[in-house]
Amino acid sequence: MPNANYREDFPVYEKNPELIYLDSAASSLRARPIIDAMSQYASYAHANIHRGAYRLSFEATEKYEEVRKKVAKWIGAKESNEVIFTQGTTDSMNHLMHFFEDDDRFEKGKKIVLSIFEHHSNLVPWQQLAKKKGMILEYIYDFSEESLKQIDTTTQIVAISLMSNAVGLIPPIETIIQKAHAVGALVVGDGAQYITHREINVCQLDIDFFAFSGHKCFGPTGIGVLYGKRQWLEAMPPPRFGGDMIEYVTEQETTFAGLPNKLEAGTPNIDGVIGLGAAVDYMIYRQVQNNNTLDALREYAVDQLSELDFIRLVQPLKDSETILYGPIISFTVKDVHPHDVASILDQSNIAIRAGHHCAQPLMKYLELTGTCRISFSIYNTRDDVDALILALKSVRRWLGYES
Ligand code: PLP
Repeated sequence: MPNANYREDFPVYEKNPELIYLDSAASSLRARPIIDAMSQYASYAHANIHRGAYRLSFEATEKYEEVRKKVAKWIGAKESNEVIFTQGTTDSMNHLMHFFEDDDRFEKGKKIVLSIFEHHSNLVPWQQLAKKKGMILEYIYDFSEESLKQIDTTTQIVAISLMSNAVGLIPPIETIIQKAHAVGALVVGDGAQYITHREINVCQLDIDFFAFSGHKCFGPTGIGVLYGKRQWLEAMPPPRFGGDMIEYVTEQETTFAGLPNKLEAGTPNIDGVIGLGAAVDYMIYRQVQNNNTLDALREYAVDQLSELDFIRLVQPLKDSETILYGPIISFTVKDVHPHDVASILDQSNIAIRAGHHCAQPLMKYLELTGTCRISFSIYNTRDDVDALILALKSVRRWLGYES
C-alpha cells in the first residue's frame, strides 16, 4: 500500500526520521517543492506588485496573479476575480462577518444557522454578528430532514464546515445549499479541512462563499483564500483601507478599485501567494484530493482502534446515511486525559492533537472535555498507525493502570 515515497517530499523527515506526524488537520508538513518555490521567489524574483514600472515588479505581479487564476481554476470558480487572498480561513470569515454587519439586508430577528460541528473560526464571528445585529443564532445537531427544516424563510446565513476538524464528519453540503437557497439564505462554507481531502467545484456546488488556509494544504502560514460569488464580493465594502485598493484619492474622498484589489489593501503576502500556488501544483501532482489510499488508511486506523477496549471512538452521526467521514479520527482513552495521552505518545515521537480542537460547543454537546485526534495526510502509512496502536497500548500502563 501507501506512498512511502511521498515522505521523501518532506524534508522534516530527514532531520526527524522517527517522526510519526498525525496532526495534519492542525497544519500539514511542508513539501520541498513549496519550500523551493518560495525560496526561489525570495532569492531571485521578489519585488512589490501592482505598482512597479520595471521588469522585476511586472514579473512578480504576473506570478501573483497567475496564482489567483490557478486557484480559481482549481476550485472551479467562474473567474479569478472571485478569489481573494486573505491570511487564512479565520481572516476570511472575519471579512465576511464585517460585510454582513455593514449590510442592512442582514436584519434583526433573522437567523444565522450553524452546525454544532463548527470550528470557532466559523462560529465566533457569527455569534458576534448575531449579538451586534440582534440576529438569532441557531444550531443544527444532525442533518436529518427534520433538523434541516430549521433553515426556514427567516434564515439569512447558513455557515457550515464541509469537513469537521474535530471529528472528521462531512455533512450533506449539496442538500444544505439547496435548502438554504430555496429560502433565499446565503451559504458560507468552511473548507479548511475539506480542501485537502476532497475536490471542490464552487460553481457546481453553487456555494456563495468558501474559505480555506494555505498551511493546511502543504503551503505556508498567513495565506488563505476567500472565494465569493462576484455579485457578493462586489457588494462587499473594503475590509481595510490604504494602498492598492483605491481607484482615485483626493484630500477628502476616495473611490475604490474593482475586484479583487478593493479587498486586498496594502502590500499583500506575496511570498505566501507564491507558496500557495506551488502548493496547488503539488496537490494536483500528488492527487491529494479524493485520495482512496488515505480513506483506506482511515478505515484501517478505525479498525485497529476499535480492537482496543480502552479506546472510545468519537464518531457522531456515524450511522446516518447522509454522513461521510474524512481522514480525521477523534477518540478518548479510558481514565486518561487527552493531554496526557498526547504527551506520552510524544515520547515515541508520535505527534497527535489533544483538547477541544477549537470546537468547545461541540465538546460540550458530546459531553466531553476534549479528545485525542489523529489526522492523516499523504506522508502517513499503515506503519504510522501500527506504531500509534503499539504506543497507545502502553499509555494506561505508564499511568499505573494494569492494562
Ligand atoms: N476551520 C476549520 C475546520 C479548521 O480546522 C481551522 C483550523 O484548524 C480553521 C477553520 C481555522 O483556520 P486558520 O487557523 O488557518 O485560520
